[in-house]
Amino acid sequence: KTVLVTGGSGFVAAHVLNSFLSRDYNVRTTVRSQQTAEKVKKSHEKDLDRLSFAIVPDVATPGGHDEAVKGVDGVIHTASPFVLQVEDNERDLLRPTIDGTSSVLTSIQKHNSTVKRVVITSSFAAIIDMDKGARSGYTYTEKDWNPVTYEAASNKESPGPVSYCASKTFAEQAAYDFVAKNKPNFNVSSICPPMVYGPAAHSIDSLDKLNTSSADIYRLMNGSEKTVPDTNFFAWVDVRDVGEAHVKAYESSEAAGQRYFTTAGGYTYNQICEIILKNFPELKGRVPEPKEEKFPDVYGVSNEKARKELGMSFIDLETSIVDQVKEFLALEKRS
Ligand code: NDP
Repeated sequence: KTVLVTGGSGFVAAHVLNSFLSRDYNVRTTVRSQQTAEKVKKSHEKDLDRLSFAIVPDVATPGGHDEAVKGVDGVIHTASPFVLQVEDNERDLLRPTIDGTSSVLTSIQKHNSTVKRVVITSSFAAIIDMDKGARSGYTYTEKDWNPVTYEAASNKESPGPVSYCASKTFAEQAAYDFVAKNKPNFNVSSICPPMVYGPAAHSIDSLDKLNTSSADIYRLMNGSEKTVPDTNFFAWVDVRDVGEAHVKAYESSEAAGQRYFTTAGGYTYNQICEIILKNFPELKGRVPEPKEEKFPDVYGVSNEKARKELGMSFIDLETSIVDQVKEFLALEKRS
């Protein structure tokens, strides 16, 4: 049994690779260059006999995945830009993410009739209604879709985070629309993680070039934040659980056509600063001083469907952050 995972060099994808490799799958993964393939190999050295590569320089090129999809039994599509500041919302976020999804699905339909299941990495970004703000008393679930419009998100003045969330929304919708319209041999499941934290399984070149959600934690301990920043999204999950969710959705017949909100629960940056200082008192002075505060009156999040239907359980915030901070400290020593 062989699966194709797109974007094998990413923070999330490295754990998706681990989750499949630990279950004896053969994994083919797309990367943008041979140089990246060599880097990814270094992070999965013990499984190289079951890991292979396909070079796809740009995820959005039509036909770009025609060769990569041949001969696999299933596809996990994770590759898309997770950046919150771009020059051009449409060129740098919306088109690569939406067209990337279409490119992968079209290549499968044309070149592989044995694929039965495609799992897409979507996001809480495709669930949350950003205009509603803190939305106290409301609980977000898989039933919610971000109501953003393409016009609002592609506008040059639109903030990067709005366009990022829109890119994930339209790409996930495009996947379900593709199945409804083209009736291919496969069906789609989607995984919707909120902010993903925890230790990396991919090789990190430099602490200055972390992926977006890892940088979100590192800034809380590298001295760059003098006070606890405002929390942007009140939901998080550990990256190891995100890897597991992809396999569980891939293997579950019940998951056909279903989206899963894979969240461990709510959190604030204040809680994260508390956890860091409690476990690493030597970092006092580098971490913003947490305030005495109760959990803010904001929306809730539900992982009930992921627990019930995928059998997920979730790593707690303290474990996740402690493991990630340990890794950052080791990387600091190395550099
Ligand atoms: P990374 O930046 O670590 O990984 C992004 C991956 O996508 C990399 O493999 C990157 O390749 C690839 N990629 C980006 N743009 C292109 C492109 N135009 N053509 C080909 N490949 C491309 O981010 P994450 O691991 O965090 O994100 C992975 C997925 O998880 C994304 O779909 C993201 O939206 C989703 N997600 C992440 C969350 C988080 O908090 N981290 C939360 C919710 C969803 P390269 O390395 O060569 O640039």
